[in-house]
Amino acid sequence: MLLKKTLQINGISLEMERKRVRNLRLYVSPKDLQAHLTLPFYASEKHALEFVNSKMEWLKKTLEKIKANPPVLQKLREISKEEIEELKRIISNLLPQWEFRLGVQAKSWKIRKMKSQWGNCKTKTGEITFSAGLIKKPLRCIEYVVAHELAHLLIANHSAKFYAVIAKHFPYWKEIRKELNK
Ligand SMILES: [Zn+2]
Repeated sequence: MLLKKTLQINGISLEMERKRVRNLRLYVSPKDLQAHLTLPFYASEKHALEFVNSKMEWLKKTLEKIKANPPVLQKLREISKEEIEELKRIISNLLPQWEFRLGVQAKSWKIRKMKSQWGNCKTKTGEITFSAGLIKKPLRCIEYVVAHELAHLLIANHSAKFYAVIAKHFPYWKEIRKELNK
């Protein structure tokens, strides 16, 4: 008995896996954007396929939805080396300009695949990290994040004082932030 196999049903590829479970479970994994079915070791395959067919409409809708708007992890995985190189070039260009305008200097900076932040500034050491995901955003968003992280070298927190500095340079920063978070 195969514990794992891939089936094609109505044009959908389904990863079927037998496990120590009590019930059939059909789900779409946010990791590989694939349909998965887990079933008990001795469940009949015919019964399992009937179960999948009865959920077909739900399954198609769920797959469509998740593919139209893949979760953060998936989006990060899709970023190529070339895109990261491009982001590196863009930031290398912007950083000195904004260091000059704000009168600060970053000690070092790097790009990482960060899940929940666009940028991070360690104010004590002057190290700045930018999220690789920025390459998928418009240039004004990248520029905003560069300036935002550098501005933390002036003011570490997100106080009104901090945003006064930001607003001086980016009168429409709230719109930019909206664009970043959508
Ligand atoms: Zn911040």
